Amino acid sequence: MRRSCGARRYVFNRALALRKERYAAGGKHLSYADLCKHLTAWKAEPDTSWLKEVHSQVLQQALKDLDRAYRNFFEGRAELPRFKRKGKDDAFRHPQKVELDQPNGRIRLPKLGWMRYRLSRLVEGEVGPVTVSLKAGKWHVSVQTEREVEKPVHPSTTLVGIDVGVTRFATLSDGTVIEPANAFRKAEASLAKAQRAMARKIRFSSNWRKAKAKVQRVQARIARIRSDFLHKASTTVSKNHAVVCVEDLDVRAMTASAAGTVEEPGVNVRQKAGLNKAVLYQGWGEFRRQVGYKQEWLGGWLLPVPAPNTSRTCPEWGHVAAGSRPSQSVFRCVACGHAGNA
Ligand SMILES: [Zn+2]
Repeated sequence: MRRSCGARRYVFNRALALRKERYAAGGKHLSYADLCKHLTAWKAEPDTSWLKEVHSQVLQQALKDLDRAYRNFFEGRAELPRFKRKGKDDAFRHPQKVELDQPNGRIRLPKLGWMRYRLSRLVEGEVGPVTVSLKAGKWHVSVQTEREVEKPVHPSTTLVGIDVGVTRFATLSDGTVIEPANAFRKAEASLAKAQRAMARKIRFSSNWRKAKAKVQRVQARIARIRSDFLHKASTTVSKNHAVVCVEDLDVRAMTASAAGTVEEPGVNVRQKAGLNKAVLYQGWGEFRRQVGYKQEWLGGWLLPVPAPNTSRTCPEWGHVAAGSRPSQSVFRCVACGHAGNA
């Protein structure tokens, strides 16, 4: 499996280098089909004949991933594709020919054979592409499936608005407050401790490697806590409300403004409330994405609302005034006197 990850990374990086080279020379873009021809040539080269040991579809998928990464870039959805590093996003994908034997808890991957797995949830529908990834020393397998479902009717009939913030992760218009998981703080403290321990070791020594593995384990735990928190929060919100309104913000622009650039550091960089601000922004983006697809599953809606004036409009009569916000946290309408949490 490590070999498959390595071969996939090699093919991705080499194809990326080739595309960059082509671009710098002013040549035309290399298509997926062009790159497949290159791949065949690389397999024939004596230096890289080890690529043949990995299933060919895994390598083709690497080229497809690169193609998609470029498409996302050209269509403004992502940054320019970057070279993959060993130990980060180690993964490979089989588009087909994977057999799943759920009653016996085993899965068969091409060239690798049958393997046992620990089930996190029942796999329903027809098995499609399967991704195997390595995270903090543990192998994960995720199975994409396809099945027909009835058009759902949302169990709730209510509408709710959500505001996201730093001190409170999210505030709902019905008064509910969602706070970030407390476990974050504890895990962050142990991350700092592990990082200090690593800094004291001699680089690349075996103790340094051990300390580094520890840091990666804690980072993986933080990622799991965050993921767990976001999923619980988004599930609760979408289960309870048929329509969820969110501020129509560009989360990517927000992340950029929080971090800023070297020439122009972000204005809010220092206003950290325990959690890293950029991490929070990422969290909101992911939270919104989750509420979006969960609403679709349940037959509800996610409704983005244009941002201007949302924070200074009176919910009672719609009076708009900047003066209705005497402070960051308080709203008091200058026209009718209606007051509440901003
Ligand atoms: Zn009012």
